[in-house]
Amino acid sequence: MKAIRVHNFGAPEVMIIEDVHDPMPGIGEVMVRLHAAGVNPVDTYIRSGLYPSKPILPFTPGMDGAGIVESIGQGVKRFAPGDRVYVAGTISGSYAEKALCRESQVHNLPQKLSFAQGASLGVPYGAAYRALFQKAKSVPGEVVLVHGASGGVGIAAVQLARAAGLHVIGTAGTEKGRALVREQGAHHVIDHYAPDHMEQILKLSGGRGVDVILEILANVNLGKDLGILAQNGRVVVIGSRGTVEIDPRHAMMRDASIYGMVLMNASECEMFIIHSAIEAGLENGSLSPVVGREFPLHEAARSHHEIMESKAYGKLVLIP
Ligand code: NAP
Repeated sequence: MKAIRVHNFGAPEVMIIEDVHDPMPGIGEVMVRLHAAGVNPVDTYIRSGLYPSKPILPFTPGMDGAGIVESIGQGVKRFAPGDRVYVAGTISGSYAEKALCRESQVHNLPQKLSFAQGASLGVPYGAAYRALFQKAKSVPGEVVLVHGASGGVGIAAVQLARAAGLHVIGTAGTEKGRALVREQGAHHVIDHYAPDHMEQILKLSGGRGVDVILEILANVNLGKDLGILAQNGRVVVIGSRGTVEIDPRHAMMRDASIYGMVLMNASECEMFIIHSAIEAGLENGSLSPVVGREFPLHEAARSHHEIMESKAYGKLVLIP
């Protein structure tokens, strides 16, 4: 089969397409023929060698994908060859024609969703669900700010929050992105580059402040986030690309909490809860990933440039 391989950490161009042996499922493993693979920012950090946990070289990047179960190992109970599935995590990497997964990493993909949509679920919807419900413990009626709502995680968060009865404020940096965030269910949409955007958000909350902030770029926004929180507000740091100065008094005055999170820290039980909720949302139609751009598998390097350098519009996927 064809797979993207990384032999040395470095720039996107270290990713090359090669012929490799098909993976064979062992006990409790499922082999999926992939029709799409999701591209996530974390894939670029890992490829560059800057991520704290490094895979052994050479490796195939990618955590998310969707396709058809081709074969199963001994002891696999939930899947059979021919099943339509999405994968959230793999053993062998998802930038490939086939991926080997643990049974717990494989989930049903309803017929009404495309494979590209299925490949957009694992990391973005997993992170958004964990941030909203397992960290912030958001409840219906609260006001949530999705600070960076036009990308993979942001769109997932808007859909999940709206379906759960939260009042949703989303931000995006382009008119196209803001239109998308509005379409996906945000009650209000703000430009995060407007110099007064924090004041606009405070005003939208009637001056009370927001209960929950999902922060996509904490190194830019965290200091100001604390100033627009309601009493007992919570900020969940999902993304950050540097350091930031905060005034802890803003948090003290509000009994506020700042949570950090990385989806990879979720336990097996928490992941089971996350994907049970996602599968339910796919079935009832409240969750439906937006695929912004598709690239052929051999253009993996281009997709890494794109995800780090372009304005966001939903999800970016590779098609093997
Ligand atoms: P993405 O699809 O590239 O989206 C990036 C988002 O950041 C866009 O909505 C973009 O908006 C927004 N943004 C840019 N400048 C901003 C600003 N000044 N203030 C607020 N938002 C801003 O990436 P993604 O997949 O959604 O991931 C987003 C971040 O979360 C990445 O850093 C990723 O590494 C991290 N992440 C963490 C976890 C975890 O487990 N902790 C899981 C998934 C992702 P515009 O382009 O419209 O300006």
